[in-house]
Amino acid sequence: MASLSLNHHNLLLLLFLLFSCDLHSTTANRPQVFDHSDWISEESTALDKWELKQPPQDPQLNCESWRFGVETNTVRFWSVVPQECVEYVKDYMDGSQYLLDSNVVANVSIAYANSLNLSGDGKDVWVFDVDETLLSNLPLYAAYNYGGADMDDGAFIKWADLAEAPALPASQRLYAHLLQLGFKIFLLTGRYDYERNATEKNLVQAGYHSWEALLLRGPDDYETTAVVYKSGRRLKIEKDGFRIRGNSGDQWSDLSGYSCGDRTFKLPNPMYFIA
Ligand SMILES: [Mg+2]
Repeated sequence: MASLSLNHHNLLLLLFLLFSCDLHSTTANRPQVFDHSDWISEESTALDKWELKQPPQDPQLNCESWRFGVETNTVRFWSVVPQECVEYVKDYMDGSQYLLDSNVVANVSIAYANSLNLSGDGKDVWVFDVDETLLSNLPLYAAYNYGGADMDDGAFIKWADLAEAPALPASQRLYAHLLQLGFKIFLLTGRYDYERNATEKNLVQAGYHSWEALLLRGPDDYETTAVVYKSGRRLKIEKDGFRIRGNSGDQWSDLSGYSCGDRTFKLPNPMYFIA
């Protein structure tokens, strides 16, 4: 069994994982492509297990503080929303705050995109996650106590097959603006490859179009963590000669690892956590 303690080697790895994407974002001459895939496999799994053994214990849990911890990637590896915070998350998601927060992310993303000088060679890329980034699964999660009740893969796949998830309005605005500016759009989702048709149908019905590629998990990725799977796919995008100028997602596993892009944009999601 791998060591679960934070020894010197693991500590170095943790520091690498925390700062690797920041290092990439300051790289001037792109694309600089390295294959780090073996750096974040076994050791990071050991770290995940170490963290799982130490869930946050707080008898006086303040839900605003809990959400702050979630959105800053401080509170991690949680399986369901703490029961005392279900009502808080419901109010957040159903009220105006979720939309307001999403709008801030879209506005900053648009300002950043406007500031870039695109090369005009069709190689400037923006990567979007799908769920809780372009599409909202709020109708499904509302039925599962806004993340306060366990939901298995089957329930999500059944929902995804309906292709009825609405667009997240702020992201839709950003998406349309990026197309207008001339970005190539890559959609990188944790959904499985057999969900391609339903996902495409849903995206089109929600108003999205003209993406360059929709990347889904193939059989080789079924057992892989999102951070490893998504890093590998982004590395491939770079190896194909594209420059990832922006990267939007609701999970830190969309935005960390390697080949994260010049700048990342975190959308709010207090309903679930994906490693
Ligand atoms: Mg997502």
